[in-house]
Amino acid sequence: MTKVRVDNLMEKVVSLCKRRGFVFPGSEIYGGLSNSWDYGPLGVELKNNIKNLWWKRFVRSREDMVGLDASLLMNPKVWNASGHLKEFSDPLVECKQCHMRFRINDTWSDEIWWNLARKLENAKVVEKEGLVQEVLKECPSCGAKKKFAVPKQFNLMFKTFIGSAEDRASEAYFRPETAQGIFVNFKNVLDTTRKKLPFGIAQIGKAFRNEITPGNFIFRTREFEQMEIEYFICEKDWEKYFEYWLSEMRSWIEELGINLEKIHEYEHPQRDLSHYSRRTVDFEYDFPFGRKELYGLAYRTDFDLKNHEKASGENLKYRDPESGEEFWPHVIEPSLGVDRTVLAVMLDAYDDSNSERMVLRLKPELAPYKAAIFPLLANKPELVKAARKIYDDLRRDFNVAWDDRGNIGKRYFSQDEIGTPVCITIDFDSLDGSTGSPQGKNTVTVRYRDTAKQDRIKIDKLKEYLGEKLD
Ligand code: ATP
Repeated sequence: MTKVRVDNLMEKVVSLCKRRGFVFPGSEIYGGLSNSWDYGPLGVELKNNIKNLWWKRFVRSREDMVGLDASLLMNPKVWNASGHLKEFSDPLVECKQCHMRFRINDTWSDEIWWNLARKLENAKVVEKEGLVQEVLKECPSCGAKKKFAVPKQFNLMFKTFIGSAEDRASEAYFRPETAQGIFVNFKNVLDTTRKKLPFGIAQIGKAFRNEITPGNFIFRTREFEQMEIEYFICEKDWEKYFEYWLSEMRSWIEELGINLEKIHEYEHPQRDLSHYSRRTVDFEYDFPFGRKELYGLAYRTDFDLKNHEKASGENLKYRDPESGEEFWPHVIEPSLGVDRTVLAVMLDAYDDSNSERMVLRLKPELAPYKAAIFPLLANKPELVKAARKIYDDLRRDFNVAWDDRGNIGKRYFSQDEIGTPVCITIDFDSLDGSTGSPQGKNTVTVRYRDTAKQDRIKIDKLKEYLGEKLD
């Protein structure tokens, strides 16, 4: 469906999210907590639909995949072995005048940053400050000229303490990615499932990063959710499976209903790769605030299993059942942010090109409500009773809304705005025929969100219809 580009799209989506209960500012009654967001009644449905669709597609319908739900808090040795304690940091620069801190890569283009990074690595402390002033002329916040301190590496992991003592021995970290929970359980999963290569372990869960510059609504937050797969393979097959997962990710994005013209695949140059990766491709989306990472696909080699084996002393190798050979499997990792998915889906679905009605063109599978049920008139008990019966019956299998306020037109618009694919109206014809026309007997009006066209459907066919078309 073609649609006209929406002006101020971001503001409109944020406002819709608040007004209709998709996403609220976090801790709002206390003045909020910057860059924290809470999912409201409709937001949690949309988010769950995304997660369920992903789980169904990548875990339940595949023989080569199993699920996992690991703890958020893990033994701190995990983060030593994975390299996060040493490497998981962003370069931070502080303005000496307003003390605002910036994540360097957000402020400068990649090219400038990499040239500078190389120079910084080799420079002495005194020169470092000068090098930064050379590139960053003025503070993006207060406008101060050339007043930047020596850049620091800032570790993004959230630290906490386990138990009552706040000392070094009780330090722990909230996981900054779900992936490590998978690696440390590799042996357990292998022993209990007897899976053979290639196979994957999938997990959905929260991750925490003390981001220097969070922002753009739910795009970059300090607490977010990930859907990750570690797909274990033989080293020789890595290129084949990398291509395979690239295509799986493309078709997942298509399944979400996101316009593929707004998706761009970005191949990380070698110098830019994370410490564990030999190839990384980002799926970027044209957000209103720029082209930014939506998902990532990385070839992590055998880095994680090898390091966890060294650090824990446990054998984390796979034994080939035919040859008896033991080795660390290599890993392809599709890593997807749930919140960035919600944002991209909302932005893509928002359509106010028709001045009469705003429509959220969500795929029916993702829509918070599959249908809304209306009695034509709220003051006619026989209509309300018949509509309630249908509502109660459908509610057992689908998430459906009830609305008996105002006129039908307003109810339609209200449902269009939250993406409900169909509205079902119970009128006098829907009753047993004694009050309406015989042809209309036991039928309801079904009105479609996308076309605003209407149909009559038999009440006893509704469930089947919703099941076929909407789930
Ligand atoms: P970015 O470069 O935007 O910081 P990243 O490369 O650090 O992202 P990954 O470590 O690859 O991100 O994490 C995998 C996925 O988790 C990302 O593609 C994104 O969807 C999501 N994600 C990462 N950081 C955040 C965040 N701070 N807020 C929301 N989602 C995030």
